[in-house]
Amino acid sequence: MKDFKELSIDFSKGDSIPASFDGAIDRILSKVLVGIEVSEQDGVTLFNANQHDIQKVFFVADKLRKQTNGDAVTFVVNRNINFTNICYMGCKFCGFAKKLNQEGAELLSIAEIVLRAQEAWDRGATEVCIQGGLHPKISGDIYRNIILGIKKVLPDIHIHAFSPFEVWFGASKKKMTYLNFLRDLKDCGLGSMPGTAAEILDVDIRKMLTKNKLSTEQWIEIIRTAHFLKIPTTATIMYGHIDSSVHWAMHLVKLREIQKETGGFTELVPLSFVHKESPLYKENTKYVRQGPTLDEIKRMHAIARIMLSGWINNIQVSWTKLGPKIAQEMLSLGVNDLGGTLMNESISRSAGSQFGQEITAAEMVKIIRHAGRIPVQRNTIYEISETFDRCDPEELAPLVPRNGTNPLEFIN
Ligand code: SF4
Repeated sequence: MKDFKELSIDFSKGDSIPASFDGAIDRILSKVLVGIEVSEQDGVTLFNANQHDIQKVFFVADKLRKQTNGDAVTFVVNRNINFTNICYMGCKFCGFAKKLNQEGAELLSIAEIVLRAQEAWDRGATEVCIQGGLHPKISGDIYRNIILGIKKVLPDIHIHAFSPFEVWFGASKKKMTYLNFLRDLKDCGLGSMPGTAAEILDVDIRKMLTKNKLSTEQWIEIIRTAHFLKIPTTATIMYGHIDSSVHWAMHLVKLREIQKETGGFTELVPLSFVHKESPLYKENTKYVRQGPTLDEIKRMHAIARIMLSGWINNIQVSWTKLGPKIAQEMLSLGVNDLGGTLMNESISRSAGSQFGQEITAAEMVKIIRHAGRIPVQRNTIYEISETFDRCDPEELAPLVPRNGTNPLEFIN
């Protein structure tokens, strides 16, 4: 058998892997290369490829990325504002939520949220990403009040806010349909929504993770409604806990089907399960995994690129979950987006991730340069604000750790 590295594939001519490549993986990749969609079953086969075949999968994922996105690697300058960590939903995987009087519980005032947004804007952020727990005592109006408060002071900042779980919660508090609730948020100035709380879109898995409080059907209905209202959303998958490759392929196909219908997803963000502080792991250490392995992380990003090809063309790696070094590695496995600079993110850190503070725009540029790619600053909906097409030698200098805690020291 020929080494996959010897293959010279010209997508513009519709080239495919030679017929002498006759294993199951090769047959699937041959179809991918002529634009045939990967079925759920074929997706499972790709996820379970052996160590030899998976190299071909990675190769094809990288080719598809190059064909679709070129050498650009995008990022957005933004700030995460987690406005409350008080939540009673009891999701088993969550290490972020606190009870009302628990130490460290907080609910930011609207004034504090606006102040943080202002600080972000002053530092060049184009977006604030706002999410919080489902605080039992807050009014359903808090969501519109946050948007109105920020927009009054910063009319041009993009507000990327509120997961489908928060929309479910706010709409039920206000006794409104999802349609009317989201329409009101859009009228207030909501720009887009994170497609978080998807976890794995499977009833049995969701029952174990979240007691199915937000069902698969409800998540899809809220996302579809947002897209109907022209509110774009991201798409996510949280993997590496009690799930398997069967669930991953099924989840990606579900996202693809929604995208065919609505076109409203901007990107897919695979999110690794962080086990350390999660009750799911603490209570079931025998049965629950400690997050995905590095091998699975690579497979997820590459196969997401392949399965979503032509439908969701931005695959983002989450450096808050993986750290910048592994995030950088994913850039050669189908990934074209490094996400946001974030300024201070607390969800991943609360769950036990050592990352999730901030990468500055200059550090993003360096990470991308060191991977041999072209840094491009974008806004939330992937409009380009700056292409760093002329490399300043300074950008190739080693990254300098900050305050002795910055994970960037692992990159050189
Ligand atoms: S994941 Fe969200 S909804 Fe679930 S417990 Fe944590 S904060 Fe609450």
